[in-house]
Amino acid sequence: MTNYNIGSLFKGMFRTFQHLVGKKATLEYPEEKYIPRKGYRGEHRLKKDEQGRMKCVACFMCATACPAECIRIVAGPSPWPDRDKIPVSFEIDLLKCIYCGMCEEACPCDAIELTPTFTQIATTREEKIYDLQKLMNR
Ligand code: SF4
Ligand code: SF4
Repeated sequence: MTNYNIGSLFKGMFRTFQHLVGKKATLEYPEEKYIPRKGYRGEHRLKKDEQGRMKCVACFMCATACPAECIRIVAGPSPWPDRDKIPVSFEIDLLKCIYCGMCEEACPCDAIELTPTFTQIATTREEKIYDLQKLMNR
């Protein structure tokens, strides 16, 4: 065996030892959950005001700004005097979404935000199309 090979052998053993005693790179999911860094952009939610009403005024700014064209809004008349419209339907197709945050940036009412929800589980495509109810109750 040449010196080169012996050196490589010890280097390899040292690296293996490092992995044995070092910090784990994997998590025991689902018991251990990954906590994303601050500012992580996960699934969306529609915010409510102090009176528990949706903040959204159906202005379509988020849908217009969305580069993935995955927001669909249908507007209807508002039951409250402080705005003209509210969404009667609001859908986001999270399988098309690229989590860029443009919708949140574009909203003039601070009505939509991306949450730090990291785990996303679904068994059908339909489950990843979030409707108004789902977006409001997150
Ligand atoms: S995060 Fe980006 S791609 Fe996803 S809905 Fe918002 S604007 Fe569209
Ligand atoms: S979430 Fe914001 S930008 Fe989108 S329609 Fe509602 S108020 Fe407008």
